[in-house]
Amino acid sequence: LTAPAREPNTFAAAPLDRAGHRRTDPEWLARAIDDPAAGAVVGTAAGVLVDDRGPVLVPAAPVAVLPGAGEPVFLGLDGSAPVFAIDVERAGDGVAARLAPGARVAGLRDVAPQLTPGDAGLLAYAAAELNWQRRHRFCANCGNPTASAEGGHLRVCPRCGAQHHPRTDPVVIMLVHDDGRALLGRQAAWPERRYSALAGFVEPGESLEAAVAREVAEEAAVAVTDVTYRSSQPWPFPASLMLGFWARWAGGEPTTLDGELEDVRWFSREEIRERRDGLKLPPPLAIARRLIDEWLAREGPER
Ligand SMILES: [Zn+2]
Repeated sequence: LTAPAREPNTFAAAPLDRAGHRRTDPEWLARAIDDPAAGAVVGTAAGVLVDDRGPVLVPAAPVAVLPGAGEPVFLGLDGSAPVFAIDVERAGDGVAARLAPGARVAGLRDVAPQLTPGDAGLLAYAAAELNWQRRHRFCANCGNPTASAEGGHLRVCPRCGAQHHPRTDPVVIMLVHDDGRALLGRQAAWPERRYSALAGFVEPGESLEAAVAREVAEEAAVAVTDVTYRSSQPWPFPASLMLGFWARWAGGEPTTLDGELEDVRWFSREEIRERRDGLKLPPPLAIARRLIDEWLAREGPER
């Protein structure tokens, strides 16, 4: 995959050295959690611990031994300081917010617009790992409870021996364009007049290019060609990776087919630029918005 160099999307910045080789060193990990410099991102099913400045990292060792706390996930190193993520969902109501003065649990999407790119990337990484831990406590093969291994990046079944790795579910999201117009759709549940790029999960046994073409055909009855990768965005709600593309229209008139969209239609550059007729676009943190904005900013004739 190649694409022009640019700033990472929201949630895509990588502020830590993941130090993956340490995950298989239990003695190092045991020392790391007791390192006075070790910090923990704390999460629950409702979100992550923040204050008015951003993520709140609390000393890792005391949180790791809280009754009900999940197994620590080693996220990596910030300089020489180990950083963990710890789930306190089952430690009791309000436990997280009492870990630091002024701290609160907030939904990642709600706080993301106020975060630096590095902080947003850190919290997305932590949330993705904790979401997976929380939802994969049992073996998918035999149903037995699984045990955390490799610093939380693996769950092993003690009964059947199956190893379970953190999930990332690929989603293609694509701006279909044609000579100065772009195809946007809306779901009935969205705010009124909000339109966005089309998107859908990649299916097993499918290339990304094929997924783009299939989703556009299913949702809008349109054929595409020239599928071009643009950028990607972790989307840990709970476990997606958004893969952004442009795709050129190759035929068909847009119509809603599979019931997922309430409306799908062409918009000219001017209609989108001027937000004509109250048009609303996705928020700036979403890769859909970036796909649209970059297309709007592109100079010259369609290529
Ligand atoms: Zn098993």
